[in-house]
Amino acid sequence: MPRCFNVVLALFLLSPATALAAEPPRALLEEAAALRDTALAESDAWRHAWSLTTEVGPRFAGSAGDRAAVAWALANLANVGFDDIRPQTVIVPAWERGVAEVRITRPFPQPLVAVALGMTVGTPEEGIEAPVIRFESLAELEAARPAKVRGHIVFIDERMERTRDGSGYSAAVQKRSRGPSVASERGAVAIVIRSVGTSNNRIAHTGGTRFAEGVRPIPAFALSNPDADMLAGQFATGRSVQLLVRSTARSLPPGRSANVIADIRGAERPDEIVILAAHLDSWDLGTGAQDNATGVAILLESARLIAMMPRRPSRTVRVVLYANEEAGLDGSRTYTAAALESGEVHVVGIEADQGAGRIFAFNSGVGEEALPVIEAMRGILAPLGIEGGDNSATGGADLSTLRAVGMPVLSLEHDSSAYFDLHHTVNDTLDKVDPEALKRAVAAYASVVWIAANVAGDFGVFPAVPPPPPADPAASSE
Ligand code: ZN
Ligand code: ZN
Repeated sequence: MPRCFNVVLALFLLSPATALAAEPPRALLEEAAALRDTALAESDAWRHAWSLTTEVGPRFAGSAGDRAAVAWALANLANVGFDDIRPQTVIVPAWERGVAEVRITRPFPQPLVAVALGMTVGTPEEGIEAPVIRFESLAELEAARPAKVRGHIVFIDERMERTRDGSGYSAAVQKRSRGPSVASERGAVAIVIRSVGTSNNRIAHTGGTRFAEGVRPIPAFALSNPDADMLAGQFATGRSVQLLVRSTARSLPPGRSANVIADIRGAERPDEIVILAAHLDSWDLGTGAQDNATGVAILLESARLIAMMPRRPSRTVRVVLYANEEAGLDGSRTYTAAALESGEVHVVGIEADQGAGRIFAFNSGVGEEALPVIEAMRGILAPLGIEGGDNSATGGADLSTLRAVGMPVLSLEHDSSAYFDLHHTVNDTLDKVDPEALKRAVAAYASVVWIAANVAGDFGVFPAVPPPPPADPAASSE
């Protein structure tokens, strides 16, 4: 989106008369430090995460579990200390996974561990048996001639890199989100991908995929890493490889879900909102512990401690538990459309959806004029071992629709090294969560939000992503 369009739209979100942010006064920083220390000593986000994963469990958009999660949120938020709690209806596409089967039938028959990718179509009852064509990467598939691909099952064998900052995921997820569409455009009859995940167990990772407008949907599966190795190994024999794939996945009529919105009303500037975002839905395989019960839990506990402060914050602190982040961002779109319609002012946002690893950095995506406030926040975070960061944050998926109209974002970066071993799998359960890391997370979110909700001035407009630097001919390898 061009920057001028951003700025025009941003006028709907940002109050026209706000002053620029300045360094927060000492008294405010002392309050934030005290809140941080209270959270370290007393916060208990674990119990919210335990309750959501135990009493609700899987909560895929449009399912009975999803409706139970909305009811859970409405009931549990009532004990947090909010001034106002309300559901916002969201229409979501519904889908049923059914049963998936992937087997090598030639040259050396073996069953493989696989899951259907989210929202995909099933196969005929007898399945689809076809020769397999292997690609090292999505880019290699994109460069392939359709005549080579037609009538085949495509196998994208691209491996995800394990990284602390989650950048391995952003790179690898492309093969899942776009690979099936690209394969279908070239005439493939089905697709299997190496899971977007780092586990070396026989556990496959699901996740959403999208077919471009007018492209015929084909059945799509993810193989566990060891099973992708097995399939690649059969190619290494030099023989032609054939797969049988079966899936009973199917779409259902759209269902109703809800965003759950809860406010701690600001004492002086109630119309200026600091938004705390986390998605309430999860994939259907695990109990959605780190994706995203812990995100929900961190925000509820942060809000509970803020509501217990001796005074109300100057601005409104709003928690939004979003519907259907996983399979379409419907909650995010519905929320932002309504916010634009009513002219609500969102000063800054922060999202919790990066698992429950320890936080190691604090990034922002704010106007330059607000950087002194960010520096002051870093001072409060330093005793938690959170050091460094830059102003290149783009926020999470649910805040992307508000960011697109100019809202600045704050981002606490969780260590993702182990997160993608279990992300979107049956293994995303609460036993992998470190309660101590949750306490530290609450301390970080609560103290940053307290400063944002009280500091004078705003956070500017989300900075335009700078263009890539011009190519340096001396650095070129060609
Ligand atoms: Zn998530
Ligand atoms: Zn997810």
